[in-house]
Amino acid sequence: MPAHGAHWRRGALAALAALGLLTAAACSAGADGTPEITTRMVTPVGPSPTPTLPPGVSPTPLVPPELIVSTLEVYQAGAVLVSVTGDIIGGQVEFLGRKFPLTKGSQSQYTFVPVDTEDPPGTHRLTVDVRMPNGTRGTLEATVTVLATPWTVDYLEFTDEQTATLLDPQVVADELALLKSIYVKVTPVKLWSGPWLIPTQGALTARFGEQRSINGAPPSGHHGGTDIGAEEGTPVVATNSGTVVLARELRVRGNMVIIDHGGGLYSGYAHLSSIAVAEGDHVEAGQLIGAVGNTGLSTGAHLHWEMAAHGILLDALRFTDGTNGF
Ligand SMILES: [Zn+2]
Repeated sequence: MPAHGAHWRRGALAALAALGLLTAAACSAGADGTPEITTRMVTPVGPSPTPTLPPGVSPTPLVPPELIVSTLEVYQAGAVLVSVTGDIIGGQVEFLGRKFPLTKGSQSQYTFVPVDTEDPPGTHRLTVDVRMPNGTRGTLEATVTVLATPWTVDYLEFTDEQTATLLDPQVVADELALLKSIYVKVTPVKLWSGPWLIPTQGALTARFGEQRSINGAPPSGHHGGTDIGAEEGTPVVATNSGTVVLARELRVRGNMVIIDHGGGLYSGYAHLSSIAVAEGDHVEAGQLIGAVGNTGLSTGAHLHWEMAAHGILLDALRFTDGTNGF
């Protein structure tokens, strides 16, 4: 699929508002934090302590929270950008039994809510518990429909040497554990802005989520990235701004760079022939971070591009083709 980021012409929040997908704000009226009672908010937030103010100064009313979701229909391996505007000091999203903290952005608090490859299609309730500066707690909610993604099957052949040395389950498991330990961390700062860029020029050779049959075995698993085939040495750039948290050689993914975009969102770039950044570097969107290669477990020069939110691998192309609603 030809995917690009040109659809994103404004800031994230403006784009979301333009979609008209604002859901009704809801908030519990009390300050006692009874989470099981959710009341549609019809007046500004309820009882708050009476402040003591100097003469001539009037209290500034709190702006009630408002929930904005990028889409009400999300595909398996897609993500919903959930934002809450108004005077809140923090909050937590719950969806499909998982909880994600909000991160402070420029005009809202937000998080990318991931949908896993095997999460059940159908309608599910998304709730956001928020806290206001005066101690009031509220719950906002939306109904989000998970749509099934039809997974394809990729038939791969590996040499005996590759399967003997690189497909050792322990090697694969250790590397997955290393990546997971990075991907589950939440840096409570927004480090990205604007559109998500496709990091290299080339042909799409394997989609995210493809099931793999290796040397004729039954299809299993889901490909954890998007493969873009290109000549060795083709520049690879950062899909968005952030901090480099990994830049080193791994057994399966070869030379790899991982960028932390803040708020629990990461991008990863694998099988690189060379790495142009170091761990700890800040990078801008579009900045050179390495070159396409064939290192690690790879059957030809290509970029394996991963995106992960809160430890769940997502289809990177959905960050660029508009299907996540942003
Ligand atoms: Zn791949």
